[in-house]
Amino acid sequence: MEYIALKCEECGLVSILPRNYFDGYGCIECDGVVFVIGDAKIYGKRVSEMTIDVEVNTKQLDKALKKAEKLAKVVADLNMEINNLGNE
Ligand SMILES: [Zn+2]
Repeated sequence: MEYIALKCEECGLVSILPRNYFDGYGCIECDGVVFVIGDAKIYGKRVSEMTIDVEVNTKQLDKALKKAEKLAKVVADLNMEINNLGNE
C-alpha cells in the first residue's frame, strides 16, 4: 500500500499520509504521538466505483480502529503500571 493511516494517542485524530513520508511524524493537529492503524488507500477519479470501494475500506478501517483502541488501552495500562512502579 502506498498510504498508511495513523491515529493520534492524544486527540484521536486519524490522518493518512504517503508511506514514504512517515518518519518520526507527529499529529498534524496537536503534535501528539501517532501510531499506525493500517494500510490506507485514497480514491479519486472513478466515481462509479467509489461507493463500493469506500464501503469496503470503511469496514476495514473500523476493524483497524477497534484493534487500535485495544492497543491504546494496553499501552495506557502499561504506562500506568510503569508509573506505579516508579512510585514504589
Ligand atoms: Zn493529535
